[in-house]
Order: sequence, then structure tokens, then C-alpha cells
Amino acid sequence: MEQEITFLEYAADAVVVGAGHAGCEAALALARTGQNTALLTLNLDSIAFLPCNPSIGGTAKGHLVREIDALGGEMGIVADKTALQIRMLNVGKGAAVQSLRAQSDKNAYHREMKQVLENTPNLRIIQAEAAEILVEDNKCVGVKTTYGGVISCKAVILCTGVYLNGETITGNVVQKSGPNGFAPANHLTESLINIGFNVRRFKTGTPARLDGRTIDYSKCEIQNGDTDIYPFSFMHDNPPENKMPCYLTYTNLETHGVIMENLDRSPLYNGVIQSTGPRYCPSIETKVVRFKDKERHQIFLEPEGADTLEVYVQGMSTSMPHDVQRKMYASVAGLEKADIMRYGYAIEYDCIDTLDVLPTLEFKKVEGVYTAGQINGTSGYEEAAAQGLMAGLNASLKLRGLPPFILRRDEAYIGVLIDDLVTKGTDEPYRMMTSRAEHRICLRQDNADFRLTEKGYACGLVTEARLARYQARKAKYEELLEKMRTRLPLKEVAPFLQKYGYDQPSSGVSYADMLKRSIPLKDIMEHFDVFKEYGKDVIETAEITVRYEGYLKQGLEMIERAKKLEDKALPEDIDYDTIAGLRLEAREKLNRVRPMNLGQAGRISGVNPADVSVLMVWLATR
Ligand SMILES: Cc1cc2nc3c(=O)[nH]c(=O)nc-3n(C[C@H](O)[C@H](O)[C@H](O)COP(=O)(O)OP(=O)(O)OC[C@H]3O[C@@H](n4cnc5c(N)ncnc54)[C@H](O)[C@@H]3O)c2cc1C
Repeated sequence: MEQEITFLEYAADAVVVGAGHAGCEAALALARTGQNTALLTLNLDSIAFLPCNPSIGGTAKGHLVREIDALGGEMGIVADKTALQIRMLNVGKGAAVQSLRAQSDKNAYHREMKQVLENTPNLRIIQAEAAEILVEDNKCVGVKTTYGGVISCKAVILCTGVYLNGETITGNVVQKSGPNGFAPANHLTESLINIGFNVRRFKTGTPARLDGRTIDYSKCEIQNGDTDIYPFSFMHDNPPENKMPCYLTYTNLETHGVIMENLDRSPLYNGVIQSTGPRYCPSIETKVVRFKDKERHQIFLEPEGADTLEVYVQGMSTSMPHDVQRKMYASVAGLEKADIMRYGYAIEYDCIDTLDVLPTLEFKKVEGVYTAGQINGTSGYEEAAAQGLMAGLNASLKLRGLPPFILRRDEAYIGVLIDDLVTKGTDEPYRMMTSRAEHRICLRQDNADFRLTEKGYACGLVTEARLARYQARKAKYEELLEKMRTRLPLKEVAPFLQKYGYDQPSSGVSYADMLKRSIPLKDIMEHFDVFKEYGKDVIETAEITVRYEGYLKQGLEMIERAKKLEDKALPEDIDYDTIAGLRLEAREKLNRVRPMNLGQAGRISGVNPADVSVLMVWLATR
């Protein structure tokens, strides 16, 4: 056995392990705030790879992308540049849940992000597998690769995704592999356990990719992109061009029959897969079993790129054996003669328990070790990117001796995401949803820059150019709001109001009053020939502020009430076992999570309101 060689490969301030969606944002946040950063990945060709759905955004995920952009992150910019089409989801619902979703060109997304990374000063990209985290006196001092190279550093951001001891499963074929045949990472988990991480196993799955030439689209409904919407990035004026459509089709009873007849061959149902999968991205097998009464399930046919024939079958993720997959897909309208280019599969991977990390995503047991993305038990490119940005930024702030940057639940979806992870933890892949955000009426995607850009600037990540754009947009918004609230002379508005069946008002009326009377803004703008000089994004935010005035007021009152508990800080060194009146379960959970304030304490599962009252009294008597 050859003598194990160890050599100093590179001396950095920080190392980011993994160049997926978390790793890219973490590395950019560190390098752009002046940290000498090394980015390790198993394969440069998998940088920012989209192993599952070829899309960025969607319900609540679109909010995350806008927030990442508002803070100076990269995902929104790359998503706009590499979109095949873009749509606004939930337009029939309230402003709080409307979300952008772009169909992304996978290969272009990878290329674009790789170029951004390669052209970023202070950033060095290395194709190598991290095998060990080097620790001295509970502090991170470096990362060692499987080739013996040591990169010394004071901070490491672990963004290993679905690769840690990755195993792909199709039928009863289990292979050590990352997604799409990329190599797995088989060495690091042991080191993570040695430094104190609780490691568990999660699973996710993906559908087949079909040859688009062999799909009969005449049997499907076309879905084109939207035009009159705004882009992901606040740095862009116009939405991406819609280049390629998607198509809608459905499974049917024949599809469901094929699945039920072969359920014993599904690794999900015959015990081959033991780990926990995403509840909100279920496989088609799980949907058919769980919703037996449904005669059909929606299937979206999504192009994977302008330079490939591959079509992604959204809604039909599976790990059934290949012969069963062929029958399943062929039973769907339009896919009768479709050729499968890549079969669906499931993947199991190691991830950690986030009750062991701080709201900065730093590991509680070893200083300088941070975790972000799928390794934290989340599922989704957007969730990963948001964590990567926050972990990278907090590592950089700590290296610069500056206070941490933690977003509260009333400030951002990113705040909700991280607070849920470090306060409640998760026993299954965690996907962001608008229902998780109690303050969602205030956390809309249209106002992400108003909420976050100044904070990103204070952390050194937001550029002067982005700050100037934000300030200009804010100024226009305030100007428009003022105009909307300007009272118009009675004789000018009366005839217009009558058209909508409103009686003659007693005094002058403002445009805002008319909006609140649900008169369409478009009609007001046409009739009075106003506001045409403002951009779609500014008009939308102003209109929402006026129309939702009551809800927003309630929302802000709710935030003020929540803040009362959030502002009650809890000392870091409390021994909860010594506080009389606290229940045993609460003591255990409080000692484990070590909440920063009473608000966070109250969100820990197993800590009930009575326990929070005990803590309140304890704090008051101290
Ligand atoms: C089959 C499949 C299906 C999925 N289905 C869904 C879904 O339905 N819905 C959904 O929201 N999300 C889904 N996802 C998840 C989505 O892909 C991830 O959430 C997202 O890619 C996570 O981003 P990440 O940055 O955490 O990790 P990844 O994108 O997985 O990137 C990890 C990176 O780490 C590198 N790496 C890992 N270990 C090491 C090491 N030791 N040394 C050096 N480099 C290392 C890899 O090379 C890679 O660059 C699916 C993923 C897969 C693979």
C-alpha cells in the first residue's frame, strides 16, 4: 500500500466543497467580499448542474430567487439569461403567492454559471474530491482531498448536495453514483461523523428524459411563456424572451394499472429504498398509491435545452425497472412512440441534522464549518442557492470580524427557510412553500429588493450599481404612490366612476380610492392617461401597496407582535436543566437547539407556550 502523501495544495481563507447551486452562491459571496476562496467540485462539468427539472423558480421558489438576487446573488441573473420561457404562476390568486418560474436551458445554465465563477477574482476552482475536514481545537484549519492535497483555510462551506455516498436505484439495480452518472463522493461522510455531525439518509427521484422527435405533441396542450411580466433579476429591465413551449398531457387509468400491477417491483414499495423522500415532489408510483381516486395526473413535457432533443417528463418521476417505465410512459397520450433517452431513477444520499447548526449555518461543534443546500435536508435548486449565499456571506463576515447576518421570518423567505431548518429541523427533504411563511403578504417577490438590497449592501455583497438601481426604483415607487393618492376634482372622476356603477362621490377621489373599489388599474391608466412612464415592476408594487393596504397593515401589526418575542434574547450559555418549571422534553429540546430568543424558543417542536412563559419569567427575574 503506497505511503499516503499529504501536501499543501493551496492556502485559502475559505474552501467551498461542491459547485452545485449552494456552492456557487457560497463561493461567489465569499470571493466578492474579498475572501481568497477555493471551490472544490468532483467534476467541473457538473457546475450548477440541474439534475432534475430544467426550471428555476415556481411557487415560493420564485420568491427565493428574487431574494437571492436582491442580496447580490447570481441565480436570478443566470436564470434570466438562460431561460427558454418564463411564466408568472398563480396569477389567479393573491399577490403573496404569485411566483415566477423559468424553463431553463440546462447546458446553457451550467456554461453561464461556470463562466461567472471563472471570471470572479479571489476565486480558484479545483476538480478534486474533499475527503476530510481538518480540525484543531474545535476550529476548522483545512480540507484534505482524496489525492492528499491539503487546502488550509479558516472556514469551509459544505455544499455536497446529493453526492455524499450517492446511490442511484432503478428497480433492484443499486449503483454507487451521483446524479446522471456523475461520480459520487464516498469519503467525506466518515470525516463529518468524526467531527460530530449527525448524518442521516434522504432520497429523491427524477423522471425519464424522452427524445422530443418521437413525441406526438398534437395530443398535448401547448403551454407558452408569458410576456407582460418582469424578470427574475432586479438588474434586468425586460423578461427573458420565450423561445420554446412546454406541453401538458395526463396519465390515465392504463398508466395507473401498469404501476399497480408492478408495485412489488418498485424499490419504493419492496423495501430496496429505505430512506425518506420529498413529500411535495412525490414519484408517480406514490401519487397513484396515495390518490387512488384520481383518474389522471398532470404531466408537463419540458424541453431540457435549445441544443438537445431531451424532454423532461415533469410529474412522472420514478424508480421502476426499465421495462415497466417503457410501458408507463408509452401509455400516456402523445408518448405512445416516445423513445426514452435517459430512464428515471431514485438517488439516496447522506445529509446532516440541522439542529446542530446555528442560524448562520455554522456547525455548533466546530468553528468555521458551515453547511448549505441539500446536505441540510432541503430539496430544490433555489433552497440550496439561498442557503449557499447565507453560509458564504456569514463565513465572510466572521472572517472579516463583522457581526453575523441573520434574516428574520418577517424579513425574507430565506429567513423562514433557515429558521425552520435550525429550529424545527426536518425529517424529510424540505421544500419551500408559501404556506410556511406566516408573514407572506409582506414577503412578496415584487418587493424583495425593498426588503433586502440595503442589507446586502451593508454586508458588502451588493454592488454600487445594484444599489443605485434599487434606489432609483424605490424613488419611482414612492413618487407613483404619491400620485396614486392624489385627490382628483369631482368633475373629472364622476363620469368615470358612473361607468362602473358608482354613485357620485361627495368629494374628490384619488386613483388609490378607485383601485380599492376594484376598478382595474389598466382602465384608470387608459382613461386618465397616467402612469405610463413607470415600469411594470414599479406599477405592480405600488398597486399592491394600495389594494392590499388593509392586509399589509394587519401584516405589519402581526410582525410587531412577533418581534416582541424575537427581541427577547436568550443567553447562549443557559443550562435549561436548571430552570424550574420547564418540562423535561422542553429542557432537552432547548439544550439541543439553544435558541437565540424567545420567539425561536417558541417554534421548537416540543416547547409549548407554557414553557415560553416560564422562560419569560426566568428572563424577567434575571
Ligand atoms: C435525481 C434527482 C432528483 C431531484 N428531484 C428534485 C425535485 O423533484 N425537486 C427539487 O426541488 N429538487 C430535486 N432535486 C434536488 C436538486 O437537484 C437539489 O436540490 C440541488 O441540486 C441541490 O443543490 P446543492 O448545491 O445542495 O447540491 P448539488 O447540486 O447536488 O451539487 C453538489 C456539488 O457538490 C460536489 N461534491 C459533493 N461532494 C463532494 C466532495 N466530497 N468533494 C468535492 N465536491 C463534492 C458535486 O460535485 C456537486 O458539484 C433532485 C436531485 C436529483 C439528483
